[in-house]
Amino acid sequence: MDTMLRIEGVEKSFKMGDETINVLRGIDLEIKKGEIVSITGPSGSGKSTLLHIAGGLDFPDKGSVKVESEELTALKDERLSKIRNEKIGFVFQFHHLLPEFTILENVMIPLLVRGESFQGARIKAGKVLSEVGLSERIHHKPSQISGGERQRAAVARAIVGEPAIILADEPTGNLDKRTEKELIKLLLFLNKKGATFLIVTHNPEVADMAHRIFKLREGKLVKRRK
Ligand code: ADP
Ligand code: MG
Repeated sequence: MDTMLRIEGVEKSFKMGDETINVLRGIDLEIKKGEIVSITGPSGSGKSTLLHIAGGLDFPDKGSVKVESEELTALKDERLSKIRNEKIGFVFQFHHLLPEFTILENVMIPLLVRGESFQGARIKAGKVLSEVGLSERIHHKPSQISGGERQRAAVARAIVGEPAIILADEPTGNLDKRTEKELIKLLLFLNKKGATFLIVTHNPEVADMAHRIFKLREGKLVKRRK
């Protein structure tokens, strides 16, 4: 099976005044096409740091991060932005939809950024929005739909470009229990259709949806049994 993400020997520390915090102390992780992998751990254990490094939003002090065949740590600004746009989908705790654009326009943006035609982008975005159950909301602004719908729109934006991997950081962190269950169902549905996910969360119920579950402990990944 194709490897979508390969992290090897990743280390990362932050300096806070005189103190150095060794957040990641040697992370190895390989994610194959069609997998859902989750990483749990308490607040401050380094989950977001690892996710940002996996997506080229931050760099490790040591180690390698490959998305498909592309070594992210070797890339500079413009090329890195291009690879992020083409190969990586992000879903964060807060949706980060642009408030002045409609849901449809928000989902079209990643395709327009990579140079697709307006018509083509419109058709793809409409299709993905229907898959996430938002056909009736495409002309609404983010402020005119519910929190759960906004998060589904954020998921649509992440998958519309058919990325190699979708990286999700506390994707249900802002949702109530019922909406959280719906979002998990949606991610499982998208996974059945071929999407690959790395999800970091302190929420064990969200982590449980994964095929493989790890815990971040003292800067290392520990495998957990399902
Ligand atoms: P989690 O997502 O598991 O809550 P984070 O990855 O956000 O954890 O943070 C892990 C540790 O790294 C925390 O102690 C945090 O304060 C520290 N940290 C994260 N980002 C920075 C930064 N940019 N500068 C300094 N310290 C940071
Ligand atoms: Mg975090």
